Amino acid sequence: MTSPRYANMHILGLGSTVPTPAEGITADVFVVSSFEELAASSDKAEGKIVVFNAPFTTYGDSISYRTKGAVEAAKAGAVASLTRSVTPFSIDTPHTGWLEYEDDVTKIPSACITIEDSTLLQRLQDRGEKITLHLFMGAENHENGTVTSNTIIEIEGSQNPEEVVVVSGHLDSWDVGVGAMDDGGGVFISWMGAKAIKNLGLNPRRTFRAVLFSAEEQGIWGGDAYFAAHGEEKENFQLVMESDMGTFTPYGIDFSGTDEATCMMKEIVSLTYLLGTTETGSPADTSDLGGFTSVGVPTGSLRADTDTYFWYHHSNGDHIEVYDSTNLDKVAALWTSVAYVAADISFRLPQQNFTILE
Ligand SMILES: [Zn+2]
Repeated sequence: MTSPRYANMHILGLGSTVPTPAEGITADVFVVSSFEELAASSDKAEGKIVVFNAPFTTYGDSISYRTKGAVEAAKAGAVASLTRSVTPFSIDTPHTGWLEYEDDVTKIPSACITIEDSTLLQRLQDRGEKITLHLFMGAENHENGTVTSNTIIEIEGSQNPEEVVVVSGHLDSWDVGVGAMDDGGGVFISWMGAKAIKNLGLNPRRTFRAVLFSAEEQGIWGGDAYFAAHGEEKENFQLVMESDMGTFTPYGIDFSGTDEATCMMKEIVSLTYLLGTTETGSPADTSDLGGFTSVGVPTGSLRADTDTYFWYHHSNGDHIEVYDSTNLDKVAALWTSVAYVAADISFRLPQQNFTILE
């Protein structure tokens, strides 16, 4: 900030943002708290850096300012956009994430800022101050520059090796933090599932497969590639499970499937009563496995405490210290038990039959 006073602001460029020119952008600021406010006074956005200072409600609702902010600001003539980090809690930490440009709208540089800076800019504007920022972003996008792979750990089924239970998380993370939570937790419990089954010398009837997806954050590329390669074999998937909302205190399993499959799943989850993780809910939360859910494959996800997940999500705060090792072990035990039983029971979880409408 260069006016009304000098201050450095912590920013993180959003995923896929274009850079600023080499000399940066110096422009006045127009702060709005919603898309409606921008639409109602879009004449004030021309040539400005638009700041979206929308308080966190839910992740699903609030991310629209991160994903669509650059496009809406550009339509109003803005030269750059800044978005209040999508989090309910802040210690002056920006939280990044993906943004979506549109082909026929000018691509303007876009970054996230902290709650503290976002509310400061709002207060300055409300007081009638003239706010000027100098913004420099050196973002680079390298399309088709890198090949990454999903990592798969498999214990072949002893009787029906062609039938599969999948547990999963994603290996990739944002450039800030280390991704211990998003999604090291999901990776850890899925990897631990394979390790525990092997170490215990168990040979489940069906194949147990841990899939550690790549490139989820760029847009579910690993999950889409896996579905493209294996969606045709959907009848062979007994159950697919994904954990990508943190592995904090576990409660049970959320599930998407037919009434009959849900009933079976409740029985399986009830076996974990010694862990105190017998809750079930619906629907399952998926990103990488969404393709399988959409064609009727029974799908589970971790049901756990998510109260603090967005405190650390996509920020420098995503380190292993967010986790409690006892809870991690409990989550791994729940995850492994449910997947193992589904892999070894004598019956199939029925799949949803979809009728394709002409
Ligand atoms: Zn994730």
